[in-house]
Amino acid sequence: METIADRLERAQQKLEQACQEANRAPNTVQLLAVSKTKPVSDIVLAYEAGQRMFGENYVQEGVEKVQALAAYKDIQWHFIGPLQSNKTKLVAEHFDWMQSIDRLKIAQRLNTQRPFYKAPLNICIQVNIDNEGTKSGVTADQVLPLAAQVSELENLQLRGLMAIPFAAKNNDTLLSSFSKMQQLFNQLKSRYSNIDTLSMGMSGDTAAAIAQGSTMVRLGTAIFGARDYTRVASRG
Ligand SMILES: *Cc1c(COP(=O)(O)O)cnc(C)c1O
Repeated sequence: METIADRLERAQQKLEQACQEANRAPNTVQLLAVSKTKPVSDIVLAYEAGQRMFGENYVQEGVEKVQALAAYKDIQWHFIGPLQSNKTKLVAEHFDWMQSIDRLKIAQRLNTQRPFYKAPLNICIQVNIDNEGTKSGVTADQVLPLAAQVSELENLQLRGLMAIPFAAKNNDTLLSSFSKMQQLFNQLKSRYSNIDTLSMGMSGDTAAAIAQGSTMVRLGTAIFGARDYTRVASRG
């Protein structure tokens, strides 16, 4: 059976190949291992294979893992799920990145609640690039106004944008969504320093995202296998 280490190695090869095909320099795409619903022991296996960046979607589950793995000091924890305002404190205290900012109120709370002894919380604004009613994220024309407000908050560091495009069967639709994201990312980069992260691409659409400038792909299934949501004890 394929191990987590095997899958990580294969995923890295796929990233490098996609970079080559897109005429991009090698090692310009980071891999975020999305460990939601997966046990701490799987994260340890990935860590032992060299993986250091992990993404979680649910506050309670994520915080439990951060605490269980507190001894692994060089893990970088990314929160990538929807966040209610009554749970911001847990994210401010335990995570290194928050990729799913879609309103000022959440950013302001994180800014206030970020502990003074920690580095600023790294932020991506989530864009609802296909204007799907069910999906969180701001519309394209709200990106710059929100970025202007977030960049004023001193305990946050704006790093870029995140998107989860509509799971299109049609590759052209997907490419056009990724390409719109790339344009927004370039606009942001031209206005602010420290903008270096375009988080897009998941297990099913990695190469297309890299072709359109993704700097961070978020892989769950490709690394840890299919998720079994019935086994998740706590959500939040
Ligand atoms: C679950 C999730 C992923 C990983 O999805 P896979 O298809 O399993 O790779 C990536 N990004 C976000 C925001 C997610 O919620």
